[in-house]
Amino acid sequence: MPEMPEDSGVTIEALMDEQRTFAPSPSFSAQANISSPSIYEEGEDYVSFWEKQADRISWRSPWSKVLDWSNAPFAKWYVDAKLNVTESCLDRHLETKGDKVAFYFEGEPGDTRTLTYRELYHEVNKFANGLESLGVQKGDRIAIYMGMIPELPIALLASARLGATHSVVFGGFSSDSLRDRINDAEAKVLITCDEAWRNGNRIALKEYADSAVEECPSIEKVVVVARTNAEVAMADGRDIFYHDLIATMSDEKEATETDSEDPLFILYTSGTTGRPKGIQHSTGGYLVGTSFTHANVFDIKDDDIYWCTADIGWVTGHSYIVYGPLANGCTSVIYEGVPNFPDKDRFWDIIAKYKVTQFYTAPTAIRTFMKWGTEFPERHDLSSLKVIGTVGEPINPEAWIWYNETIGKGTCPIVDTWWQTETGHIMISPLPGVTTTKPGSATVPLPGIGADIVDDEGHSVPLGGGGYLVLTHPWPGMLRTIYKDPERFKETYWGRFSKPEENKWVYFAGDGAKRDTDGYFWLLGRVDDVMNVSGHRISTLEVESALVDHHAVAEAAVVGRNDAITGQAIAAFVTLKGNVEGNEMLLQELREHVATKIGKIARPASIVFTDELPKTRSGKIMRRLLRDISEQRKLGDVTTLANADVVREIAERAQNQASSQASQE
Ligand code: ATP
Ligand code: MG
Repeated sequence: MPEMPEDSGVTIEALMDEQRTFAPSPSFSAQANISSPSIYEEGEDYVSFWEKQADRISWRSPWSKVLDWSNAPFAKWYVDAKLNVTESCLDRHLETKGDKVAFYFEGEPGDTRTLTYRELYHEVNKFANGLESLGVQKGDRIAIYMGMIPELPIALLASARLGATHSVVFGGFSSDSLRDRINDAEAKVLITCDEAWRNGNRIALKEYADSAVEECPSIEKVVVVARTNAEVAMADGRDIFYHDLIATMSDEKEATETDSEDPLFILYTSGTTGRPKGIQHSTGGYLVGTSFTHANVFDIKDDDIYWCTADIGWVTGHSYIVYGPLANGCTSVIYEGVPNFPDKDRFWDIIAKYKVTQFYTAPTAIRTFMKWGTEFPERHDLSSLKVIGTVGEPINPEAWIWYNETIGKGTCPIVDTWWQTETGHIMISPLPGVTTTKPGSATVPLPGIGADIVDDEGHSVPLGGGGYLVLTHPWPGMLRTIYKDPERFKETYWGRFSKPEENKWVYFAGDGAKRDTDGYFWLLGRVDDVMNVSGHRISTLEVESALVDHHAVAEAAVVGRNDAITGQAIAAFVTLKGNVEGNEMLLQELREHVATKIGKIARPASIVFTDELPKTRSGKIMRRLLRDISEQRKLGDVTTLANADVVREIAERAQNQASSQASQE
């Protein structure tokens, strides 16, 4: 019997030591919306800080109290205040910004549309009137299942105008996923489109919607936006085309008054860890939080052209394509399709065409661009860019450096923004005019936000150590509950580290993180992914980043698989850059590279070269599937997986290669 390894006793070990720093240039800081670090002191009294920020949006009547936390963990922000979010996003801009562009729409096939704030206001009113004529009232749930066309944000806003609650289901989901989400929310109306463009193909959304709705007893009406003008089946009495519905509608519509705490939307998480949860957000606090963070994290100026590449089906699209930017009267680009249609330079083409100033995308996209090579961005003039951002996963330091050099040309601050569907808005991120950045670190909590890193007992881990990322006090955009499941809400997010008997409430995000001696936060991925190798608790992210640090590697995923001797052994899956061939020599080189970069303990026991990694539909690496493959278990739930056949292929390769590799050091 091998001797059992001793547990290191540390929650998560910090192996990487990234020393590079990037201070904002004096000229950037001089023009920034926030240029003084004193904002963080202001944020310490978070209640009065967020009260001050509430002036950013329009209210119909004020609050009696900023925060009511007496029924924790159920929060109320801007208690008793009344508003309608669309008045902040549309009406109040009419006088000063009516002719300003709200959205530049770029269709995947190359068609374009421009909507000014006035035009958007009229479209939203017409559709709100149309929905009302179908019986939609305040409090009703509206499901939305569409491609990225202007009618998508219009649908969200029309719902909000009526005080209804929208539930957007990403257009890449299957009928079954749509059905389950509609039924969970008991939506009355579904808004969809005939087809969506994706990678040059027509995706038959209406067909998928039809089969979903067959099993959705709550749906009374289906509104269909004609995107491709394909012939689609229209059920008599149930289905109506958007253009027919709005044809006779007035372009004025009095907004329905809502309470600050009325639900604005439900959104299901992306499902990286399992069954998606219906996250319910409120109205007033959500808009204050998204408006403040959008303006200041991206340093938005009046003549900027901002582009967030997320889909509105995810929270990033809700907060940073629709509500934040519109509340701030900002001009945005909306792009319908994939980054490689018709060629791998489409994003860079769009940046040059619209002279985009802020660009916000995901690490998965950045790693894909790295894999494709620099020739594609090099075809275009990216000099309009001022700030570039990322969200969705930890960014490996080498991907950060690539982003900085190849896209930002070394002159754009990078904002690595940590947040979740649950948090509603950005929580940990640089302020680009203030914060010195470090590649791979989301830096520090924004002003007015409290975060800490704790150990298994909930004690704060000293600087330099790793553990669980928690949020230490309420914030305006926080989720209010899980739809129809307050118990699950309490247990999932507030159960682990709170001490109700002491009235101490701590939100546990599910992510691991470490904090360096400067107090910078480094996200280490989900705590479920942490590996235990010979008693050392190692984050998958750090091993992945060490692999991506090698010049041949574009992307890597690492998991711990059961091992009789070490407890877990590190199994790595590696995607190489465009022109590199994977062979035995490179394999050994990569193992040594990890050993030198972060230590022998982290040297992968096995490496599989693969063209793709299994990802969720929002592009995140799904490690639990790789874990199943590595342990040759039956595959787990793959319903929210984007590229399911990749998994099968990886499984085969893993089996072939496993025999030829040493399984441990
Ligand atoms: P589910 O909760 O259903 O498993 P999910 O967590 O992927 O799905 P989202 O709410 O879309 O759903 O993603 C939030 C998560 O994404 C965070 O908890 C974190 O793990 C990761 N994340 C987001 N931004 C960052 C970032 N800048 N750095 C590191 N991780 C990030
Ligand atoms: Mg999550």
